[in-house]
Amino acid sequence: MTLDVKALRAQFPILQREIDGKPLVYLDNAATTQKPQVVLDAIIDFYTTTNANVHRGAHFLSDEATRRYEKARDDVAAFINANGREEVIWTAGTTESINLVARGLGQLLKAGEEVVVTEMEHHANLVTWQQACKVSGGTLKVAPIFENGELDVDAFSALLNDKTRLVAFPHVSNALGTVNPIKELTAKAKAVNALVLVDGAQGIAHGGVDVQAIGCDFYAFSGHKLFAPTGIGALWGRKSVLENWPVWLTGGEMIADVTYQDATWGQLPNRLEAGTPNIAGVIGLGAAVNWFSELDLAAVQAHEQALLASAHEQASAIDGMRVIGTAPKKAGVMSFMLGNAHPADVGFILDRQGVAIRTGDNCAQPLMKKFGIPGTARASFSIYNTLEEVDKLYDALRKANMMLA
Ligand SMILES: *Cc1c(COP(=O)(O)O)cnc(C)c1O
Repeated sequence: MTLDVKALRAQFPILQREIDGKPLVYLDNAATTQKPQVVLDAIIDFYTTTNANVHRGAHFLSDEATRRYEKARDDVAAFINANGREEVIWTAGTTESINLVARGLGQLLKAGEEVVVTEMEHHANLVTWQQACKVSGGTLKVAPIFENGELDVDAFSALLNDKTRLVAFPHVSNALGTVNPIKELTAKAKAVNALVLVDGAQGIAHGGVDVQAIGCDFYAFSGHKLFAPTGIGALWGRKSVLENWPVWLTGGEMIADVTYQDATWGQLPNRLEAGTPNIAGVIGLGAAVNWFSELDLAAVQAHEQALLASAHEQASAIDGMRVIGTAPKKAGVMSFMLGNAHPADVGFILDRQGVAIRTGDNCAQPLMKKFGIPGTARASFSIYNTLEEVDKLYDALRKANMMLA
């Protein structure tokens, strides 16, 4: 099975753009992915034909908007194999999903109880738990990684004990590309009765996420890294856990009965969703998961691995290039240093060649400090990238190397 990348690319209008007369080579997919026409159409169609608030109106448009909005919940629930639609909570994205859980945990955690994360966390899956520990007197433990960016699973296991209340780790590291053994880590955390949150921001677009098979309690992700709009994402949570989780946002839609002095909460999923939601974003996310689901998953994964393999292979031929993150199991993310050049200078020169990459701390300052670097340049691949584009990345890198020498 191979992916028809040419046909795929034709569905992404933005990929036809030129930057400074050069075809855009978009290699910043770990920051956000581009959107196919079907997703753009779904959003425009919603505003053009159906715009109304959901759940409120006793009128035709409101009913239709509600139907489309709740259909997207069914589609996302099916996409991740949730055990019911009420397990899918809409949020603004991964960051908000993790905050929802961490704010609740801050109320539940007792002094002396522990939260375990890893050294490869995005700030969204680190600062949140730090703060939850601070307000509750809990302790944050950080599982180390090896020099190649792989998690030290034995050291991770050694941190778990009967005080461990919650364990959080990324499915895929945005900075290193490492794919974590999430089922194995979850099983270890479950053996000490800890709750498990998987940061799925990068994992979701690599396909085949089955939350029941993972065995975790929470899986957080963003739409915009999965070909959907920004400002929408989801928290999947196990029903038995979500039902009793402390509410974070209060207001309209999430209540049952309200008096001037008190209120009771409604049923899932509404109990954890306050206010008018991002209706068009939800509909866009539904369109994106349906579109993505039609692709051949094995071909998607094989294509991503082919791009990564070519990128890794060509790195060794570039003088002074050092790839940060060489774990045996990686997704399509390659962070690197080019000699002693500052990553921002590398990014600038690549940009002049039409090649878009990320430069900076990758939202992982402690991890960068561990590697003794200020940040990295990072090329990250998606399904619509081609091997020719990887070659163009290296043409541009050779040029950068000459200019920065
Ligand atoms: C992007 C990302 C986040 C944050 O996602 P937002 O969409 O910015 O909320 C968290 N963790 C990882 C691993 C990410 O890649």
